[in-house]
Amino acid sequence: MPRPLIVAIDGPAGAGKSTVSKILARRLDFTLVDTGAIYRCVALKARRQGLALDDDARLEQLLGTLDVSFHVEEEVNHVFLEGEDVSEAIRTPENSLAASQVSSRPVVRAHLLDLQRRLALHAQHGAILEGRDIGTVVFPDADVKVFLFANPEIRARRRYEELFEKGHEKPIDQVLSEQNRRDREDSEREVAPLKPAADAVQLDSTDLPLSEVVQRIEDLVQSRRRG
Ligand code: C5P
Repeated sequence: MPRPLIVAIDGPAGAGKSTVSKILARRLDFTLVDTGAIYRCVALKARRQGLALDDDARLEQLLGTLDVSFHVEEEVNHVFLEGEDVSEAIRTPENSLAASQVSSRPVVRAHLLDLQRRLALHAQHGAILEGRDIGTVVFPDADVKVFLFANPEIRARRRYEELFEKGHEKPIDQVLSEQNRRDREDSEREVAPLKPAADAVQLDSTDLPLSEVVQRIEDLVQSRRRG
């Protein structure tokens, strides 16, 4: 059986990866793999068990029984951890920072590599994976690679609006400083740091409307399909 078409969308938090990936997956009828959600589930499980986030031995145990699945319902990609819908719980600011911390542990990255690949390779038509190291580590041979970024202030503004809509008001300066910290941790870690793959198409979404970003990536996929 031929391998499904693999689309890698990497970039920092708030660049629009999730929104763009969701729309594209729907348009193309591709499977969406939100890899950040998987790291977030590891962090949530570790926090609930009261583990130190750098305790590799205990993290390894936890990973052995990790059960993460996705289910799209009314256009929302729900995330399940051991059968519980944790879509909201994994996105709190505390869990975002914890996700960034556990994701710097090589034991965690090594374990999740397989899971991410399996989820994508099971796709019927194609898979869109969004994350930080998809084009560099998870699928270095992806058919389409995009590195989506935007200036930090715009990204923080988008996150602020998203939190505001959910009723979690927070000063924008705090959103920006948490985001800067996460960017720094993700870019400076030794294993699979956040960086564009040498052959990725770099897209700056600072001044681009969402529809334009989606269209540009869809065009890349269609031209790849035409061979
Ligand atoms: O994309 P999202 O913000 O949900 O990711 C949460 C965290 O998971 C990131 O800050 C990053 O530390 C980690 N992550 C990663 N590699 C990926 C996806 C996410 O290290 N492929």
